[in-house]
Amino acid sequence: MESMVTRFYKAVSNGKIYGVKCRKCGHFTFPPKAGCMKCGAHDMEWKLISGEGKLQFFSSGNLPPMKFAKYHPYAYGAVELKEGPCFFTCIEGLDVSNVEALEAQNAKMPMKVKAKIKRMADLDIVIFKVEK
Ligand SMILES: [Zn+2]
Repeated sequence: MESMVTRFYKAVSNGKIYGVKCRKCGHFTFPPKAGCMKCGAHDMEWKLISGEGKLQFFSSGNLPPMKFAKYHPYAYGAVELKEGPCFFTCIEGLDVSNVEALEAQNAKMPMKVKAKIKRMADLDIVIFKVEK
């Protein structure tokens, strides 16, 4: 059987971002997991996410994994999806060139962000972009 991770990334490569919703309690989990994070049920329904979210805080990726070194510096932050779950990923549209810029932007949290699929290090990755 195809793993949830494989299925998730296949969909992402086709421009679709899925989360899973528990059929028992309605709790939304992202990225998809086999079991509900809230009630533990294994009855999950795949649902496209709205892509809307709020950036809660971010930092610059000072020590990126080697594969991502060429994208340095990039912003990395916590996004609260409209559907509920919190997700850590790269954030586009922020100034991470200096500490003052980081502080000024962090003072404006939460910021509206939108999901986007970006090809990085030969992978299609779900990132978020700041809505201006
Ligand atoms: Zn549940």
